[in-house]
Amino acid sequence: MLDYQATLDYIAEAVEPGFGKGKVADYIPALAEVPARKFGMAIQLASGERFSTGDAHEPFSIQSISKLFVLELAMSHFGDMVWTRVGKEPSGDRFNSMIKLEMEHGVPRNPFINPGALATLDLLMSLKGDAKHRIRNFLRYLAMNDKVDVDDVVMRSELGHASLNRAMAHLMKGYGNIHMDVEDLLETYCFQCAMAMSCEDLALAGLPLATGGYTEMHDSAVLSAAQAKRINAVMLTCGMYDSVGSFAYRVGLPAKSGVGGGILAVVPGTMSVAVWAPELDQFGNSYVGTMALEMFTKLTRTGIF
Ligand code: GLU
Repeated sequence: MLDYQATLDYIAEAVEPGFGKGKVADYIPALAEVPARKFGMAIQLASGERFSTGDAHEPFSIQSISKLFVLELAMSHFGDMVWTRVGKEPSGDRFNSMIKLEMEHGVPRNPFINPGALATLDLLMSLKGDAKHRIRNFLRYLAMNDKVDVDDVVMRSELGHASLNRAMAHLMKGYGNIHMDVEDLLETYCFQCAMAMSCEDLALAGLPLATGGYTEMHDSAVLSAAQAKRINAVMLTCGMYDSVGSFAYRVGLPAKSGVGGGILAVVPGTMSVAVWAPELDQFGNSYVGTMALEMFTKLTRTGIF
């Protein structure tokens, strides 16, 4: 078997020239405080084995990676009804762009851009009970780690700088695609984005997507095989914002990124891979994280193409 530990340790050194080429997100002030030179990477194999390197045990702000888990929750409760509220096409725009939202009558292109995540969360919030607890408990269950929690400082910072997300939510409400109170929705959205998880947590949390919704580690199936397949398809086509094409070209895996510098990628049938490096490229994806995943799929021949 390939020496995964040696591969990860090699990558942790080989990405060194990539530091300083991107920029830590600063439009959410609390994220600007994160040290730029962090690097962690973890893989979780379907067999139960896991390997990691660098800062893989350190929790960071998962930001938009949370959109993936909220989509899982929404799909497990509402099935294909989710697709009446959001599309499944790439947007070709920035994650916080509103440009198409009015032209397309308040129905966002996909669940991974901000308006799409707001619409998906709005649907989830229609269930009885506190959506924040539901999301936190789901992440703890997926990561098998009861310490997974929200970073209050990031949450408050984000809520204080949420004008664009607030504008999107109001626009969609005007078109009848948001039903909850906009302020409640925004607070819950900032809560999900401010959840802190490590690469090790994320790799385990992502495994059901690689294994048809069911793993030997989790007590019950997280998703049906068909749902896992569909979410992978939407990740592949929409998970990396408007650089999804070049990411598929370079890395060749379904993945979801967040402006905290994390990327969670899925090797269907085999494993999930999480990487964290806070400096972002011009599209909002981790510069060094993308480099690391490109090296990983090249060295391990795990790209799907
Ligand atoms: N919380 C971020 C926002 O709403 C998420 C964006 C991201 O991670 O891409 O702007």
